[in-house]
Amino acid sequence: MRLWEMKSLISEMRMVLAGVIMMSSSVVPAQSTDAGFGPENPFHAPSALPFQAPPFDRIKDGDYQPAIEAGMAEQRKEIRAIADNPAAPTFENTIVAMEKTGALFQRAYAAFNAVTGANTNPVLEKVQQEEAPKLAAHSDAIFLDAKLFHRVEAVYEKRESLKLSPEGLRLVEYYYQRFVHAGANLSDADKEKLKKINEEESTLSNGFRSKVLAATKDAAYATTDKSALAGLTDADLSLAERAAKQRKKEGWVLPLQNTTQQPYLSSLEVRATRQGLFQDSWTRAERGDVNDTRETIARLAQLRAEKGKLLGFDSYAGWKLEDQMAKTPENALKFMDALVGPATANAASEAKDIQAVIVSQKGGFSVEPWDWEFYSEQVRKAKYDLNEAEVRPYFEMNNVLQNGVFYAANQLYGLTFKERKDIPVWHADVRVYEVMEADGKPLALWYCDYFKRDNKNGGAWMGSLVRQSKLLGTLPVVYNVANLPKPAEGEPALISFSDVITMFHEFGHALHGMFAATEYPVLSGTSVARDFVEFPSQFNEHWATYPAIFHHYAKHYKTGAAMPVELAAKIKKAEDFNQGYKLTELLAAAELDMQWHSLPAGSSLQKPDEFEKAALEKKGLTLSYVPPRYRSSYFSHIWGGGYAAGYYAYLWAEMLDDDAFQWFQEHGGLTRANGDRLRTMVLSRGNTEDLAKMYEAWLGSAPNIEPMLKYRGLAKAGTK
Ligand SMILES: [Zn+2]
Repeated sequence: MRLWEMKSLISEMRMVLAGVIMMSSSVVPAQSTDAGFGPENPFHAPSALPFQAPPFDRIKDGDYQPAIEAGMAEQRKEIRAIADNPAAPTFENTIVAMEKTGALFQRAYAAFNAVTGANTNPVLEKVQQEEAPKLAAHSDAIFLDAKLFHRVEAVYEKRESLKLSPEGLRLVEYYYQRFVHAGANLSDADKEKLKKINEEESTLSNGFRSKVLAATKDAAYATTDKSALAGLTDADLSLAERAAKQRKKEGWVLPLQNTTQQPYLSSLEVRATRQGLFQDSWTRAERGDVNDTRETIARLAQLRAEKGKLLGFDSYAGWKLEDQMAKTPENALKFMDALVGPATANAASEAKDIQAVIVSQKGGFSVEPWDWEFYSEQVRKAKYDLNEAEVRPYFEMNNVLQNGVFYAANQLYGLTFKERKDIPVWHADVRVYEVMEADGKPLALWYCDYFKRDNKNGGAWMGSLVRQSKLLGTLPVVYNVANLPKPAEGEPALISFSDVITMFHEFGHALHGMFAATEYPVLSGTSVARDFVEFPSQFNEHWATYPAIFHHYAKHYKTGAAMPVELAAKIKKAEDFNQGYKLTELLAAAELDMQWHSLPAGSSLQKPDEFEKAALEKKGLTLSYVPPRYRSSYFSHIWGGGYAAGYYAYLWAEMLDDDAFQWFQEHGGLTRANGDRLRTMVLSRGNTEDLAKMYEAWLGSAPNIEPMLKYRGLAKAGTK
């Protein structure tokens, strides 16, 4: 139920992280004199539209780059002026002043992010490539500026005596830690060392990405024997034939996906083919050729351990988790360790069901990883079969939106929604709603761009066009993007249940952005730690199956009849399917990540295969038929993406949202009082308080894993 989330989170996180470097700012007209940027550019002055919504009707592809570049130049000038201020550093002239910088950059970059994610083209892609290194340098120019850091440090040191508001105090601490985290506190010699480590890390990481890309392409399963592919559909076969032609090969080719398990394994009937495809996937980056990544990752792990030490920690993970809700690798490990027993016990029980099918078909072998998808699909059909065609007529998209997503927000928070046709959008499929409080006061603008397009990134995500801030007088303008199938003209959009969950999920992020009620933009809304940001979204998913909500929207699009009880029960039951396996493969990957990044500085170069085996054995993750979701040698999230020492965050946020939903269940469920309490104590507060403290104050205790096991159907091992 939650795995669909994996691919979407990457793009989502990119937006969230990008938000961190966007220090949004006051409504001062741009003064830049850059060539090619003048008053005719629609970003030149703040938008005069309601909520300062971007004027997409006037913005042309060529307007973004000059506005982003002029915006960065302007922000550096503003930052320079703060650093060079002859007056003694104060909260106002340093910290608050930084919050007011970068207005133009913020306007242009937020709109650019929206269109490049949801409606891109070669012109925008080229700008994206050209600007990527400049954006990184822009962030460095701010956070490695020694003069600026000394002013921040001076304010930080006297913060207790300044009589700041709790949010003001948090802001000072946020900036100080952000600078220190980036290395601003190091001696000049150590700064040089850090720069060298960062350079080598970035080179190795880039190298890893291109090696894995090439390795994954090269390792595709190829055959000239059509009978080896028995079980594939004609459509699959013609795709495989085309893939072979593209590679100038005879026969058929099955390209690999990023994960260890491969989708075709659920339908391939010939066991030797399954084993072949699985082995191709498992060994893709360990073939002793130029694309073998093992030396690269061993060196990356060693280098990151050095970086952790240089920045004052026992390990890279220690440094990386400092500003996360979990705070230390020990806390994250303790959490994962507690999941291992229930996860593996349930996977073992699922394996028994699978083995029974193998025996009944006189297979004469024990289940191996390459058999899992094939036989679990048969178990799924027998035990939980859900017919998509039967379900979809009950999930018409507009009805799900109005009577499901909006209805839940109305019942919990009193919100109402009014469609606005006068706000310009980036594509004709985008719709805009004004969101109002129970008393009619305007709260936010919300855009949805739900239908799939070829020029849209995969998955689903939420982003901000204008971030809420009392300091800047801005109300939030946020959007949700998804890839739901677009119906033919005049036909209803009938979606799957997993699409319904996507709508609730992304709207949960949107609520986090729209409820923001903070003074300072950098602490606002979804600008929270990686292991917290998925909490509001995953929490909102729970309402999709809550009876009073579900029965309000799950109605036949033609007749209006309620979904039959048996069908609704099947949907609910199917959520438990294969959860032992799914949790075990995720845990194995998360454990590998954390152990690689917990190596102490000075460790010798590790041999990845031995390290991996020992790491999993140490944690009792030894079921031969449940390999890690990603093996070390092709684990792109941690070696090539932003998830080093962070893969656990997916599971951590799941613990929080299930625990939170259990609290609601125990306190009367769907009520305004419960919704408003969560809104006041958590959803409106962004990053204005220590997140663990904020969560615990709301819940009344520390988060607990029991509800997570319950909602995954894993609470009682072996008895389902
Ligand atoms: Zn999400």
